[in-house]
Amino acid sequence: MSTPSEEAPVTIPFCVPEMTGNEAAYTADAIARNEPCQGDYLPRVEAAVAGYVGVRHAVAVSSGTAALHLALLAAGVGPGDEVIVPTLTFIATANAVRYCGATPVFVDVEPEHWGMDIQRARNVASARTAVKAILPVQLLGHPTKPVPLSGWYGDYRPAVIEDASESLGAIRRNYRAGSHELALCLSFNGNKLITTGGGGMVLTNNARVGRRVRYLANQAKDDPAEFVHRSVGYNYRMSNLAAAVGCAQMERIDEFLAAKRRIAETYSRELAGVPGIILPTEAPWARSSWWLWTMRVRQAEYGMDARALRARLAEQRIESRCLWQPLHLSPAYADCYRGPLPVAQAVWREALSLPSSVGLTESQQARVIESVRDARR
Ligand SMILES: *Cc1c(COP(=O)(O)O)cnc(C)c1O
Repeated sequence: MSTPSEEAPVTIPFCVPEMTGNEAAYTADAIARNEPCQGDYLPRVEAAVAGYVGVRHAVAVSSGTAALHLALLAAGVGPGDEVIVPTLTFIATANAVRYCGATPVFVDVEPEHWGMDIQRARNVASARTAVKAILPVQLLGHPTKPVPLSGWYGDYRPAVIEDASESLGAIRRNYRAGSHELALCLSFNGNKLITTGGGGMVLTNNARVGRRVRYLANQAKDDPAEFVHRSVGYNYRMSNLAAAVGCAQMERIDEFLAAKRRIAETYSRELAGVPGIILPTEAPWARSSWWLWTMRVRQAEYGMDARALRARLAEQRIESRCLWQPLHLSPAYADCYRGPLPVAQAVWREALSLPSSVGLTESQQARVIESVRDARR
């Protein structure tokens, strides 16, 4: 049964970083060398991530949002262009499109793993003339199906930029066979699989894209001695201090992924059969990074909806989270397409993510599971 009332239980956080490796040692080293901004940790973290994922070029930047912005610019996205974005994602995906002066066109997600519905993206692309790029999001760590080269109208080929902010670990080359994306964008925000205390990265096999992203992230310096700039660049560099944290985090990525998988398996095993709880699944062709373990709560069978359950868990000091408001419903994008996107809308109403920190202990997770089982009684 649930917790005794005399002693308030300790809060179980939703998804917090794990900083117990070489993070302190490497940042102390960067400070001792007086290299907070530029330094060796930057190329090291780029090489570590590029090697891990199996891509040729990696550019470290200040956030996942900056990575998306620069990748879109490198794909030639600009004012008047449209970019297809799944409506179910964090708002940063669409904001990056807006920063380019372009307009997001929202499409629905597929019902199983909530990635962009490629058939719908195709239909939208064939009905519009301004679609310059498409931006699938690997939601919650589950990979999306590779966007196929064929099946677009005529010889039209959109540029594919993937928002892999939530899926480092799910995007290694073996799982990407058949894909042809121009760039993958990562986030190292505090709650992501690995963190740099804020940061991101653009990954690409296209040398031109890699060079362009690095140039734009560094204020577009054409002649650094005479300060000649042929483009309007950005100050989107990652600091060497952040990169030092990233190097330490990358040393433990397999351990982090194993923890996420163990957490997911435990939730799925222990919550299977609870009426009204729909478990997330992994497609046979995919390997999720299980960034946030997210179930659906069917009010009719469970007895309360996801938001009521979230409130109930909060009373027991268990943090949980609903999904982002679909972007076609967001006031910030009121001027964009607002048609019915039924799958995303249904998923949004029912989804609830449970505590998923790499450091979640067995006893903490048992408390979460018990609370979810008990809440409906
Ligand atoms: C976290 C996240 C981002 C943005 O990353 P920041 O590093 O916070 O800028 C973009 N898209 C998705 C899907 C994310 O989850």
